[in-house]
Amino acid sequence: MKQILVTGGAGFVGSHLCERLLEEGNSVICLDNFYSGSKENVWHLIGHPGFELVRHDVTEPYRVEVDEIYNLACPASPVYYQYDPIQTTKTSMFGAFHMLGIAKRTGARILQASTSEVYGDPAVHPQVESYRGNVNPIGIRSCYDEGKRVAESLFFDYHRIHGVRIKVIRIFNTYGPRMAVDDGRVISNFVVQALRGEDLTIYGDGSQTRSFQYVSDLIEGMIRMMATDDSFTGPVNIGNPGEFTMLELAEKILSKTGSRSRIVFRPLPSDDPKMRRPDITLARGKLGWAPKVSLDEGLDPVIAYFRRKLGL
Ligand code: NAD
Ligand code: UDP
Repeated sequence: MKQILVTGGAGFVGSHLCERLLEEGNSVICLDNFYSGSKENVWHLIGHPGFELVRHDVTEPYRVEVDEIYNLACPASPVYYQYDPIQTTKTSMFGAFHMLGIAKRTGARILQASTSEVYGDPAVHPQVESYRGNVNPIGIRSCYDEGKRVAESLFFDYHRIHGVRIKVIRIFNTYGPRMAVDDGRVISNFVVQALRGEDLTIYGDGSQTRSFQYVSDLIEGMIRMMATDDSFTGPVNIGNPGEFTMLELAEKILSKTGSRSRIVFRPLPSDDPKMRRPDITLARGKLGWAPKVSLDEGLDPVIAYFRRKLGL
């Protein structure tokens, strides 16, 4: 049985990860300040003998003895990370410092939940890990993008200088049950709007693309990455290469929910990436991993989840 620290464990992805790690017989410390996550996400785990919930902000030092660390603490929705952008940068930067410090002292393996946003508005498509990206360092997304880039930089310096056993994954857009109703990301927005009979808000003309991965595929990728030997650090893309325009996504959700909502167009926020799709050759080769759940399959449980959540 391993002792595992999951920062951001009460968030959307973190709660699924805590669940999986407990199922495998591990002991889990779920650390969160509930900025964009909630106790409700891990309510069902409280009382499990292997589970411990700790309220803590990763921008402050923390001391613990563990075998593995999954560093997920950081708001992921543009609405949340832009609400307090200075705190977002601090979370990525100081969070990485503090968690790498624990890994250095204890010899724990540490996995960083990095992001496809390190590629910015990409000029290379699909995105391969060797692509260095096109990030606007002074734009409204930079608190998140540059915060995550600095975290990657710290991970590799701790690895080179102190021999810390690092694992870096670059996660592409992920969705699934436990996303908050007010999360602000596109799938939760469209599903909630469709179920409530409200207008579906497409930003821009809807021709921008994203590639959506179901949460169970991401969790499998994270577990496999953590289990690789120390020589493999990543970064490795974890995402579903199926690529859709936001207009296609809106139409799919309207048809699946049977909603009579209209589609409306709103201004495109600045620096919104025009296209995104992972090249997953490296993950296939090194982790033997590929996503299993298509967007069509994954939307059904998400729609059912939001129906329950909205009491419909
Ligand atoms: P989320 O917002 O639901 O979860 C993040 C969690 O971190 C929340 O529970 C939040 O309260 C916590 N947190 C934020 N700041 C903190 C701080 N200073 N101290 C302690 N806890 C803090 O987002 P998510 O979708 O579950 O994302 C999880 C991780 O995966 C994030 O690091 C995110 O950047 C990364 N990621 C997610 C996606 C995606 O599409 N879901 C894509 C790329 C990367
Ligand atoms: N988007 C949209 N309507 C919404 C929310 C988002 O059209 O109500 C668009 C957004 O502009 C972006 C895409 O959907 O082009 C994905 O947005 P999200 O916030 O989910 O993730 P990210 O931009 O970080 O990939």
